[in-house]
Amino acid sequence: MVEDPRGPRVVLLGECMIELQGEPFGTLQQSFGGDTLNTAVYLARCGRAAGLRVDYATGLGEDPFSAVLLQRWAEEGLGLDLVRRIPGRLPGLYQITVDARGERSFHYWREQAAARAYFDTAPDADGRPQPSPLEAAAEAIDVLYVSGITLAILGEAGRTRLLALAQRLRARGAQVVFDNNYRPRLWPDAATARLWYARLYALCTTALLTLDDEQALHGGITAEAALDAAWALPVAEVVVKRGAEPTAVRLAGQPWQTVATVPVARVVDTTAAGDSFGAAYLAARLAGAEPAAAAAAGNALAARVIQHRGALMPREAD
Ligand code: ADP
Repeated sequence: MVEDPRGPRVVLLGECMIELQGEPFGTLQQSFGGDTLNTAVYLARCGRAAGLRVDYATGLGEDPFSAVLLQRWAEEGLGLDLVRRIPGRLPGLYQITVDARGERSFHYWREQAAARAYFDTAPDADGRPQPSPLEAAAEAIDVLYVSGITLAILGEAGRTRLLALAQRLRARGAQVVFDNNYRPRLWPDAATARLWYARLYALCTTALLTLDDEQALHGGITAEAALDAAWALPVAEVVVKRGAEPTAVRLAGQPWQTVATVPVARVVDTTAAGDSFGAAYLAARLAGAEPAAAAAAGNALAARVIQHRGALMPREAD
């Protein structure tokens, strides 16, 4: 850990998209969303009292939408020095349509999103790619947090750069936290995803797993088989989120423990349940809590988040 009176510095790398909600060609409500951004916001809120410094690293464009995103994130207290503004690129976009039965469907425009080009840096005089802001800051990072979506959107070359960065961070004692968030449509096939997940698991210190996603990643294996596979991962700290079922945690060499979730009578919207869990869990661990106590903090925050519409609860609700 870097000694700093302000507390550890956590950097989350990923993609946040512009969100449109409403009928096609009707009145659209604009917002923004993304798994790692949600975690960054909740982490900044949870860690404020302890002096935690939370940075969000992503690619944005030079457009007015990107400017507003930066402004909103700054209002949440996120450090934004590691954001790259990439000329000619724009943030990704998705639309949520809610049908008469309340079922939500999502449509994405994200192939060309700026976040995907985060590691596409120009070559230096020797023809080597220049470091991205994140790589340039590697000596000053205590925790790097990425998700399966981060891994998916970066593409082959970006993923290779990310793994090299993770290796450097581990070599100097920093932590690498990975939330599995597996989204099959972002990958050419499951085998490619499994390959990259395995490479990242070999480098991370904490794995935050949603059991459903781990089952899907392995071709629909049973929950029991996915749990066995999770405990066998080469990761010192593994947390398994299972919706309303008790959360399971284990440290290397220790038996796993379960931690009850908080009963919620009326679930309004499960968006960001796992993202907020990860934030409260990590904030508690960085403040010195044991994994079981940190999981209880994660379950408590997620239970509140799912009683609100949208990913981010109003700040007053914290
Ligand atoms: P994800 O949001 O990543 O799909 P889960 O569905 O497993 O992950 O939910 C993440 C966390 O949200 C759980 O570990 C739990 O703390 C909380 N949670 C989710 N659904 C419920 C529920 N119905 N009741 C109480 N807590 C829940």
